[in-house]
Amino acid sequence: MKILENQQLQSYNTFMVPALCDRLVQIESEEEIPQLLAQDALEGPHLLLGGGSNMLFISDFHGTVVQVCTQGIRRVEEDARQVRLSVAAGVPWSDLVDFCIQNHYYGLENLVGIPGWVGSCPVQNIGAYGVEVKDVITKVEGYRIRSRMPFSLANAECRFGYRTSIFKTDWKGDVIISRVEFRLSKEEHFNLTYQGLRNELEQSGLPVTIESVAAVVKTVRDRKLPDITKIGCAGSFFKNPVIPVAERDRLLRQIPNLVSYPAGEGMAKLAAGQLIDLAGLKGVRRGNVGVYPQQALVLVNYGGAMGAEVYDFYLHVRQTVRERFGILLEAEVNQVGMR
Ligand SMILES: Cc1cc2nc3c(=O)[nH]c(=O)nc-3n(C[C@H](O)[C@H](O)[C@H](O)COP(=O)(O)OP(=O)(O)OC[C@H]3O[C@@H](n4cnc5c(N)ncnc54)[C@H](O)[C@@H]3O)c2cc1C
Repeated sequence: MKILENQQLQSYNTFMVPALCDRLVQIESEEEIPQLLAQDALEGPHLLLGGGSNMLFISDFHGTVVQVCTQGIRRVEEDARQVRLSVAAGVPWSDLVDFCIQNHYYGLENLVGIPGWVGSCPVQNIGAYGVEVKDVITKVEGYRIRSRMPFSLANAECRFGYRTSIFKTDWKGDVIISRVEFRLSKEEHFNLTYQGLRNELEQSGLPVTIESVAAVVKTVRDRKLPDITKIGCAGSFFKNPVIPVAERDRLLRQIPNLVSYPAGEGMAKLAAGQLIDLAGLKGVRRGNVGVYPQQALVLVNYGGAMGAEVYDFYLHVRQTVRERFGILLEAEVNQVGMR
C-alpha cells in the first residue's frame, strides 16, 4: 500500500476544492485491507474515498483517508442468458460500463457517463434514466472497520433505496467495500421507461442497440451536466424530495405545473431542480460558485472556490427553497469537514 502524508486532495475531488488530509492510504491489493485494519490505522477519524465525485470537502480532513485502488473485472459465472461479474472497488465505473457495452452485457448502459469508482456505486445506489445499480447488484463484499471482520451482503441485505443504502446509513463510516458483484443479461433487454431517453432515441433515428442507448444517454448528459475537467461539481447536489401526497396537493395550488411522480403508498416525488428554478436560482452565480444554468440540481465551482464557499451557497439555496415552498431539500452529496 502507498501512504502519503499531508496530502492535498484538490485533484482527488471533482468539486476541485482544496483540502489537506493528514494521511492518504492507497490500497493496491485486497490482502492489504486486513493488514491496514490490524495496524489500528483507522482507530481515529477516517474516510473512504473513491473518485471523489460525490464529496464536498468543507475544510481540511484531520485523519486518514483510504482509497481502495484495486483493479480487475472477473467473470464468476456465465451461461447463455446471463453473466455474473465480480469487480474490484478501484475499477473506474466508466471502465466497467464500457466493458459491458463491448461484450453486450445488458443492464448498465443507462448508467454510462457517471463518474466515480465501482466501490462507491452501492453506497448511494447510483441511478440515472430509469435504472438504479441495485437492479443488477447481487453482492457487496468488504470489511467492517470496527470489528475488522469481512462481510458479504446479498442485494436485499444492502437496504437499497433512492440514493441510499446500508452503507450510507447504519454502516456509514464503518465499512470498506472491496468488491461488488453484478448480474447482467446476455439477452437483449433495455430500460426505456424514461421519456426523455425514448424521445431522444426516436429523434436520432438509430436502431435500439446497447451502443445507441449508451450514446444517447451520453448526449443527454453532456447537454445538462458540466464537463468536470473544466468546471468543478459533484453532479446533482440535491435529492428529489419525497413528500406526502397531501403536501404535494397543497403545493400544486401554488405551482400548477408542479412536476411530481408517484413514490410509494401516499407519497410523491418532486423535482428538486424545478423548485430551485422556480425560486429564481437557476444560473445564479455568487463569487466563485453558482447553480449550473443547464441543470438547477447542480452546484458548481467556477474556479478558485473553497469547499466552505460551496457549502454556504448550498445553505443559501436550501433556505431560499424552504422559504418559498416550505420544502426542505436534502443534500445527495457527502459533506466532509467542518464549517
Ligand atoms: C458530473 C457528475 C455526474 C453525476 N451523475 C450521477 C448520476 O447520474 N447518478 C448518480 O447516482 N450519481 C451521479 N453522480 C455522483 C457520483 O458520481 C456517484 O455517486 C459515484 O458513485 C461516486 O463515486 P466516487 O468513487 O467518486 O465516490 P466518492 O465521492 O469518492 O465517495 C462517495 C461515498 O462512497 C464512500 N466510499 C467510496 N469508496 C468506498 C469504499 N471502497 N468503501 C466504502 N465506502 C466508500 C465515500 O466515503 C462516500 O461516502 C455524478 C457526479 C458528477 C460529478
